[in-house]
Amino acid sequence: MIIAIDGPSGAGKSTLGKRLAKELGLLYLDTGAMYRAAALAVLESGGNIYDVNETNSLVVKTNIELSGAPDDLHVFLDGREISAKIRTPEVSQTASLISTFPAVRRVLVERQKQLGTFAPNGCVLDGRDIGTIVFPNADVKFFLTAAPESRAARRFAELKEKDDQITLKETLHEITERDERDSTRHDSPLKVADDAIVIDSTSLSTEQVFAAMLGIVRERQKAPSGFTG
Ligand code: C5P
Repeated sequence: MIIAIDGPSGAGKSTLGKRLAKELGLLYLDTGAMYRAAALAVLESGGNIYDVNETNSLVVKTNIELSGAPDDLHVFLDGREISAKIRTPEVSQTASLISTFPAVRRVLVERQKQLGTFAPNGCVLDGRDIGTIVFPNADVKFFLTAAPESRAARRFAELKEKDDQITLKETLHEITERDERDSTRHDSPLKVADDAIVIDSTSLSTEQVFAAMLGIVRERQKAPSGFTG
C-alpha cells in the first residue's frame, strides 16, 4: 500500500506520516529530508548553489540514506549522520531552491520510487509531489494544509528548541517564501492531486487529524478495488 501525503510546510505531514506508518507497519519516507540532504551537500561543497549544472552533478554523486523506525528516523549523507544539520532555515531555503532544478528532482524522484516500490509492506511518503508525480497511482492521497499562522507556530515551536534567537515572524516569513517557491516552480509544483483528500488542520488537534486519516485508510483497505498491498 502506498500512502501519499503532500502539503505546504508545517502542515503536520511528517508527524502524521510517521504515526500512520507506525500504526500500519509501513515504511516511512520523508522525501523532504532527501532534498535537505542534497541541499546540505551543496552548501558544504562551497560551490555556487545557483549553478544548475554544478549542483546537478554533485547531487547525482551523493549517497543519501534514511534509516530507523518512523519515530526515530536518521538521515545519512555519504555515510555521515546529518539528521540534526538538515533542520536549519538555511538548509530549508537551499532545499527549496535546488528542488526547482529538474535534474535534481529526477534523481531524487527515481530514488523515492525505488524505495517506495520495494518496501515490503508498503510505504507512507510525505512531500510536495508524491500524489502528483512520484506515485500518481497511490492507494490513498492526502493533502494536508492549515492557515499560514498556525503552520508557522508549529514550525517555530520545533525550531525554538534548537535556536532561541529565532522569532515567530522570521519563521512565518521563511515558510511563506518557501511555500510560494514550491507552489510556483515550473517542475512538479506543490498542488492538490485531483483525487487527493484535503484536510485543513487549522482548528483540529493532531489526534483528530490522525483519526480521520486512519479512518480513511482503513475504509480504502476494505474497498474491493484500489488497494494493492
Ligand atoms: O518537507 P520539507 O520542509 O523538509 O522539505 C524541504 C523542501 O524540499 C521543500 O520546501 C521543497 O522545496 C522540497 N521538497 C520538494 N519535493 C518533495 C519534498 C520536499 O520539492 N517531495
